[in-house]
Amino acid sequence: MAGLYIHIPFCKQACYYCDFHFSTNLQSMASVVDCIILELELRKDYLKGETVNTIYFGGGTPSLVPTEFLEKILDQIARLFPGKKQEVTLEANPDDLNPKALANWKSIGIDRLSLGIQSFQDEILQAYNRVHNSVEAKQAIQLARAAGFEKFSIDLIYGYPHSDHRLWHLDLEEALCLDPGHLSAYSLTIEPQSTFGNWAKKGKFSPAKEEFIAQQFEWLQEQCDKAGYIQYEISNFSRPDQAALHNSNYWKRSPYLGIGPSAHSFDGSARGFNPSSNPAYLKALTTGSLPFIIENLTTEERINEEILTSLRTLWGLDTASLAGRYQVDILEIKRHSIAKLTAIGMIYNKEKTLTLTRKGQLLADSIASEIFLDSHDLS
Ligand code: SF4
Repeated sequence: MAGLYIHIPFCKQACYYCDFHFSTNLQSMASVVDCIILELELRKDYLKGETVNTIYFGGGTPSLVPTEFLEKILDQIARLFPGKKQEVTLEANPDDLNPKALANWKSIGIDRLSLGIQSFQDEILQAYNRVHNSVEAKQAIQLARAAGFEKFSIDLIYGYPHSDHRLWHLDLEEALCLDPGHLSAYSLTIEPQSTFGNWAKKGKFSPAKEEFIAQQFEWLQEQCDKAGYIQYEISNFSRPDQAALHNSNYWKRSPYLGIGPSAHSFDGSARGFNPSSNPAYLKALTTGSLPFIIENLTTEERINEEILTSLRTLWGLDTASLAGRYQVDILEIKRHSIAKLTAIGMIYNKEKTLTLTRKGQLLADSIASEIFLDSHDLS
C-alpha cells in the first residue's frame, strides 16, 4: 500500500507562523498544475508497482485551486494508478468553503476534508494572519456536513502566548462540541523562516513558555479523552474508525510519492524532495527533467527516524521488527536508558513494543533521542 501526496504551492496570504512552501502569486497556477500532471507521468514507476490507496492534496491551500484543475490531476492519477482509493483528502481553508465548491469536490471523488480552522477566536486568527474569521470557521463544519462529507478533520493550533489558557479552552470546547471525526492539534512552533521567527529574532515576538504549552497539551489530552477520542499520534485524535489513513501510512513508513514543488517522497529505503521554488520546479519540468533530489539515509539515520516517528504513535516502536530488519537489539543496547525512562513513568514495554506514556508524550523528542543509536551501536 502506498500514498500519493500532491503539493499545491499557493495561498491567499502568508500566515505568520508558517514556513511551508507556497506563493501568494497565483499567476503560475495553471502551469504548475500542468507540470504536476507531467511529473506524475515521469515518476509513475517510483512506487515500483505498489498499489496507491490514498491521495492527499496538501499545501499551500489546495482549496484555492479551481475544481477542473484538481479533476485533471485526479484523472491522471486514475490513469497511472488505477483502482479504487480508500481515502482522497483535500486540505481546505474555511473561507474557500461554499455549497458549490463542496459539491464539486465531492463529484470528483474527494471524500475527506482537512479543515485549516486553527482557532475559533478572532483575536487568535488575526494574530496568526489567517484569512478567515471565527464565523467562517464555525460555518465550515456545518457546510461540510450539509454537503455530505462524512470524513473531515479540524486542525487547531495551541500555545499562542497569552496571559491565560481561556482562549485555548474555548477553542477546544468549540471544536469538541462540533463532534468532528478527527482532530489534529499542533503546538505553535516558531519556525526561523516564518514571520513570527523573524519577529522573535528582532525581539518583537516572544513565544509562550514551555510550561504554558505543556499545560495546554495536557488539557487537550484530558478533554479529548473525556470526549472519547483515540489519540493515535501525539497531535492526532480520532473516532475509532476515522484515523487518517494517509498520515498513518507515513508513520508506519509505507512508501509515498510526493508530487509538486517541495513535495517529499519515500520509496521504502531512500527519501527525496523537489525544490521549494515554483520557478525552479517549472523550469525543470518544462525542459523535460525532474528536479527531484535523492536523500540517501544511513542505517543509523533510518533507525533513529523510525524510533522518533513510531514513539509518537499509539502503536509504538516494535523493537522485534527493528531487530529483524537491522539486526539490532535496542532493548539490550539501550537497556539502561529504557530502564530509567520506565522507572520514571515516561515509557513502557509491552511485548517488545516501546510506547510513550501520557507523561512521556510531553517530552517525546528528548525521550526518543535518549534511545537513538549511533554508529558505535551498529558496528
Ligand atoms: S498555514 Fe496554510 S494557509 Fe497559511 S500560509 Fe501556511 S500553507 Fe498557507
